[in-house]
Amino acid sequence: MPSQDSALTMLSLVWFTRDLRVQDHPALSLAAAGGRVLPVWIADPAEWARPEVSARHWGFLDDCLRGLRADLAELGQPLILRTGDPVEVLTRLQAKHGFLRLITHQETGSAWARARQQRVADWARGAGVEWVALAQGDGPVLPAPPLPMVVEGTGALPGLKALGLAEDRCPYRQPGGRAAGLQLLESYLSVRGQGYSPATATALGAERAGSRLSPYLAYGVLSPREVQAALAEARQRWRGNSDWSGALRALAAQLRARTQAQDALPLMPPGDTPATGPWADGQTGLPFIDATMRALAATGWLDARSRALLAAVGVHHLALNPSAVGLHLSRLCTDYDPAIHWRALQSVALGRIPDPVAMGQRLDPQGAFIRRWVPELARVPDAHLHAPWLWPRARKLLAGRYPEPVVDPATAGRAARAERTPVPRPLVTPRKRAPKGQMALDL
Ligand SMILES: Cc1cc2nc3c(=O)[nH]c(=O)nc-3n(C[C@H](O)[C@H](O)[C@H](O)COP(=O)(O)OP(=O)(O)OC[C@H]3O[C@@H](n4cnc5c(N)ncnc54)[C@H](O)[C@@H]3O)c2cc1C
Repeated sequence: MPSQDSALTMLSLVWFTRDLRVQDHPALSLAAAGGRVLPVWIADPAEWARPEVSARHWGFLDDCLRGLRADLAELGQPLILRTGDPVEVLTRLQAKHGFLRLITHQETGSAWARARQQRVADWARGAGVEWVALAQGDGPVLPAPPLPMVVEGTGALPGLKALGLAEDRCPYRQPGGRAAGLQLLESYLSVRGQGYSPATATALGAERAGSRLSPYLAYGVLSPREVQAALAEARQRWRGNSDWSGALRALAAQLRARTQAQDALPLMPPGDTPATGPWADGQTGLPFIDATMRALAATGWLDARSRALLAAVGVHHLALNPSAVGLHLSRLCTDYDPAIHWRALQSVALGRIPDPVAMGQRLDPQGAFIRRWVPELARVPDAHLHAPWLWPRARKLLAGRYPEPVVDPATAGRAARAERTPVPRPLVTPRKRAPKGQMALDL
């Protein structure tokens, strides 16, 4: 049995993945309690070659890693950045430092990431290294632990080119990093959420008043427990104030849905080719749908109902391959989280087939969202904005500027409904049925 002294000086490597924070980080706390820590983040070229990721994910992650680097340095041990296959990187670090424990958090949503984690676990066991994969889990929020210094070069992040990532202009992407996430959490619970209800919010309302926490949770710069704790505090603060009940209830429900999605078995996209063409280019001639696609491309974010509608039109009205739809969207969503994304897409593919014009009118009753993202329609009167093809002057006014609709949405919706009954067309074959009531995507 190791003496208490040797246990206290044990060197553990903490492998960061989608947990880019030092606060409430069970793996870091466990490692620090045992002695010295090598905190490592690995840019794995195989991960960045996957069809569902893009340079905007890298940009967001880069922001987050900068913050993590600073926070770790402040605790005493800077982050070690390496590029390569994790088994090879870890083998080299093990040969140099002889760490005895490898601690990480369990991979949840992605079957690919789970398989990679399993490969690393097998390597660790073979190398005589104790393997610990923790749930990010329940319990109290953990403080950031002090970290005694281990001498090791910190390394640098590879560039986009080295990872084979194409440039991806996303001019209004949410900035990554913990400070930005904390600011959104605080402003949602103290100001922005007042009077907000996602079930009735417009696309612009959700953009302004929604929590906007998704990318920060997806990359783990905020822990779900921290968000829960802030929510519990806000509940106390706003107790009895009905203006706040919608926002607080919504966040609690979505965090529950998030946990359920993370706990479920991963769903895999069956293909590897993202959708292309008018839907992907925001050129379907259906103004609200084009506005949502363009907004997503430029900002990396859409509210849940607009996202669901955009996906539904791709899958149902335009009969695009659901996996191709999901891959195009995953590349555009800064908050891409495989556990949530593929489950949400499945829910859209198996769910009610919406009327895109009527739904668009509910999500953008004044047409302000369309006017922002589809400036070609500036001269179309409000009354015709959602369906300009029904306006007699549209053909002349919009010729060469904005396409006619690629499908008549009513006819395409009917055809999709007819094709789908009585057996729904599955997006993917889940290895196990997802827990009931997982999605709150009300179209
Ligand atoms: C086709 C499609 C794809 C989607 N892909 C993603 C994705 O890759 N990543 C992602 O985070 N969300 C995804 N969503 C869910 C949802 O659209 C976003 O979480 C939401 O728009 C983010 O905004 P918010 O942070 O203001 O969310 P809020 O409504 O404030 O929700 C708070 C948090 O709960 C989680 N959450 C929200 N909705 C769900 C849900 N239905 N299931 C599980 N967890 C949820 C997110 O972490 C979110 O940040 C997808 C939805 C659809 C219809």
